[in-house]
Amino acid sequence: MIIVMNRDASEQELDAVVRKIREFGLEANISRGTERTVIGAIGDERKLSPDLFNPMSGVEQSLRIVKPYKIVAREWHPQDTVIDIKGVPLGGRQIQVIAGPCSVETQEQMDLSAEYVKQAGCRLMRGGAFKPRTSPYAFQGKGVEGLDIFRRAADRLGLPIVTELMDVRMLDTFLEYDVDVIQIGTRNMQNFDLLKEVGRTDKPVILKRGMSATISEWLMAAEYIAAGGNHNIIFCERGIRTFETYYRNVLDITAVPVLKKETHLPVIIDPSHAGGKAWMVPALARAAIAAGADGLLVEMHPQPCEAWCDADQALDPGELKALMGDLKGVAEVLGRTA
Ligand code: PEP
Ligand code: MN
Repeated sequence: MIIVMNRDASEQELDAVVRKIREFGLEANISRGTERTVIGAIGDERKLSPDLFNPMSGVEQSLRIVKPYKIVAREWHPQDTVIDIKGVPLGGRQIQVIAGPCSVETQEQMDLSAEYVKQAGCRLMRGGAFKPRTSPYAFQGKGVEGLDIFRRAADRLGLPIVTELMDVRMLDTFLEYDVDVIQIGTRNMQNFDLLKEVGRTDKPVILKRGMSATISEWLMAAEYIAAGGNHNIIFCERGIRTFETYYRNVLDITAVPVLKKETHLPVIIDPSHAGGKAWMVPALARAAIAAGADGLLVEMHPQPCEAWCDADQALDPGELKALMGDLKGVAEVLGRTA
């Protein structure tokens, strides 16, 4: 951290800053320029915060020089992390498309979905048993019964499952059902207690971006999980809130290269919740892979018109298969496979 002093700061004010730096176990380096005096704090700057210095008299401003996140930062881990999900690699050369319905409805619907997911060439399956709905009167998900239905359907075809955890009290049940990837939804990105608890497991976690979260807030949320010892984190951009109302959310494609620069962890895109309409999904999906995403989270329903949740944005089985074909082409151009 560097602390920039006011032009007319006194020696006493300077000494007070130096003492404060030392109180926290760091060393101070004073650099007296012609215009300003700047004090550098040397040591683990995560122990300090700008709030400690900004209110002190004589201080103009204080700035961090190291990022506040460490485990997730590429700075400390230059090579890409590849996460192994029951033998399926995510984050490497091969792109992964996680497909399935928004929510688990019936055994028949999930059995059929699993077959279509497999036939399309996807290696991972999604489905929500616990649904975060805007209205308390809307279908809230099948709950534990949904986990059971999902597990049976996916196991028949050997597909690892991805499902959302909303409440920390369900974590043990998720572990009993051996959920392969825990999804933390956009509404829970900053539910720090939930993040800490999944951080104590070794399950891969998909951390969706909060609908109004900055990149830095998102990275810090991931750091909460990582700090508990679980480094198996996958970032998922799903569109952010803006002034635009034509589509459900604005897919922030810029986040892909930015995250790839900032973190070594895999980055995927959810084009379904971004566009909110099935017809937009293929274009957004192709753009995501072209921008460098490691995979996609896509909603597909055997009969979209019959879906209990997010019917408008679900691809039908044929559309998912066609999309997989397109993505193979995009991946190839980039020296990757799909
Ligand atoms: C979902 O993936 O079903 C979901 C609810 O997504 P989000 O948290 O991005 O809204
Ligand atoms: Mn959905």
